[in-house]
Amino acid sequence: MAQQNNPSSIQLDRRGLLFVLSSPSGAGKSTLARKLLTSDQQISLSVSATTRPPRAGEVDGKDYHFVDKETFKAMVANGEFLEWAKVFGHRYGTPRGPVEDMLENGQDVLFDIDWQGTQQLFQEAGNDIVRIFILPPSITELEDRLRNRATDSDDVINDRMSRAKSEIGHWDGYDYVLINDDVEACFEKITHILAAERLKRMRQKGLIGFARKLVEG
Ligand code: ADP
Ligand code: 5GP
Repeated sequence: MAQQNNPSSIQLDRRGLLFVLSSPSGAGKSTLARKLLTSDQQISLSVSATTRPPRAGEVDGKDYHFVDKETFKAMVANGEFLEWAKVFGHRYGTPRGPVEDMLENGQDVLFDIDWQGTQQLFQEAGNDIVRIFILPPSITELEDRLRNRATDSDDVINDRMSRAKSEIGHWDGYDYVLINDDVEACFEKITHILAAERLKRMRQKGLIGFARKLVEG
């Protein structure tokens, strides 16, 4: 359960939602996700497990749970993932328990996952999921961003660029598609989408009782 954002309005119970941001690597989804997490107390990040080695500055348990392949396989076998996928030769998965706990505690959950994971999550969560795909303004800008980010070797950047076009091909598996040209403008659109999605009637569990009281009163 979660509450609406406006403290001066009547607070009705609503269902938490699963908010997915996907993009080809380098389009800016981590930047946008970080801004959202800083500015919105009602949403928390689902921290994925991965077999990829940590990048400089990444913190275990905060950015990812960094695990070895054997541990990851055991987690798959134990049904510990809501979804998982192989991306760039490494495995990535969403641990089930923390997501269920966050929803239970009235938090919306933010996912930075690829299109394969988004499809699997949609099978599990249906109407509770809101899917946003972030596009770069151009392919050259995407490559510039990956190079300026300076977190990956040339080989890794080339690999990410060669995968970008096939990832972009999955844009139509999403509810919203945004072009991240200006980061502030794109972020504003994300906050509008989130605000509107939170207000959807199907998420407003408290409406039935509220409307009944109005009618009976
Ligand atoms: P992703 O998580 O999609 O791989 P990042 O959020 O790491 O991408 O962004 C890649 C790089 O591009 C980062 O250095 C980030 O600061 C930069 N960036 C993100 N959005 C924009 C934007 N709208 N304009 C210019 N640079 C951006
Ligand atoms: P990166 O190595 O750049 O952190 O992530 C590479 C890709 O893996 C990104 O597209 C990211 O969204 C995706 N990813 C990260 N965590 C998960 C996850 O738990 N599940 C899936 N399916 N993809 C993930």
